[in-house]
Amino acid sequence: MIDLYSLSLDELTDLLGTWGEPRFRAKQVWDWVYDKRVTTFDTMRNLPSTLRERLATETRIGAMTLAAEQTSRDGTVKRLYRLDDGQLIETVLMEYDDDRRTACISTQAGCAMGCVFCATGQMGFARHLTAAEIFGQAALFAGDLEARGERLSNVVLMGMGEPFHNYDASLAAIHMLMQRLGIGARHITVSTVGLVPQIRKFADEGLQVKLAVSLHAATDAERAALLPVNKRYPLVELIGACHEYVQKAGRRMTFEWTAISGQNDTPEQAHALGKLLRGLKCHVNIIPLNPTVGYAGDPSAMLRIGDFIEILEDYGITATIRIRRGIDIAAGCGQLKSDVMSKPPRIPSTTETE
Ligand code: SAH
Ligand code: SF4
Repeated sequence: MIDLYSLSLDELTDLLGTWGEPRFRAKQVWDWVYDKRVTTFDTMRNLPSTLRERLATETRIGAMTLAAEQTSRDGTVKRLYRLDDGQLIETVLMEYDDDRRTACISTQAGCAMGCVFCATGQMGFARHLTAAEIFGQAALFAGDLEARGERLSNVVLMGMGEPFHNYDASLAAIHMLMQRLGIGARHITVSTVGLVPQIRKFADEGLQVKLAVSLHAATDAERAALLPVNKRYPLVELIGACHEYVQKAGRRMTFEWTAISGQNDTPEQAHALGKLLRGLKCHVNIIPLNPTVGYAGDPSAMLRIGDFIEILEDYGITATIRIRRGIDIAAGCGQLKSDVMSKPPRIPSTTETE
């Protein structure tokens, strides 16, 4: 079946043309999918029923089926989708009081980067997602929101996988988010483990899309123990590329710091981080570790993170604690998949409120 998200308007026009449909039909379907954001064909009222039926038989809106869904106490929705080849990917929707609706989407099934504390890293790499599969996760949430009069406002490429390891598809998906869902570049964030050549390339794209780099340690030995990629791109190269990015983009960037008790929340790491980032226009987001089965570490205590932030302030670096949304449904990347894989399968589309 053809995924409509994978077609441009011209390609859709060609497809419907081979079915003997007049050209304007493609634009009508396009408007239903992207302006009205419907996710089924029966709602496309201005199309002849024969066309709706053919669309429903030969095409689909989003090449994925819901395998599980959980809703957390704070309203965070986490979905597990099964792709056509059976791969499972996760997508999270976070709702904030100020109307922000943020989708956190995956770019790969699994991940090849092997970060030790990450559930996705612990699974290994399965495959890259296509641009339509990446975009589709956000588009399906946008459709559900639209149906209740709300709008998807932000997208973060922070789900499963490393977006810059799947650079072209991730960039294509970002363009689709902007063009087809009208999401402004400043409302899109791409998070990378620190692939230096791609950070440089991204800086040259001239996009207003925000960049986040997962740092997690400020010395090479400590970082390499958590993130194997650091052996390939050590800190001096990574921070060099970040300076280039900030200079070219003319805007500050973000560093992510998963706080692990006794590992990277020490005063030594805080001072090393202060020295490393001094003079760089940036902000540090500190996220207490979400425990995973494959890693023995514990999240840092809040007090300890407070001390850490105070040290950073001495270096002129701002940092804030981010509490992971959906903590009660393990909304950390890769965690729903590991959960589902270790239990009998859930019935599709059940909503759990725990
Ligand atoms: N591959 C990209 C984007 C996906 S991971 C990257 O690594 O940046 C998104 C963020 O979640 C990263 O900062 C990652 O380090 C963090 N993360 C992964 N596992 C985590 C866990 N168990 N607890 C807290 N943060 C985690
Ligand atoms: Fe991959 Fe990011 Fe997880 Fe590292 S933290 S294994 S790069 S998804």
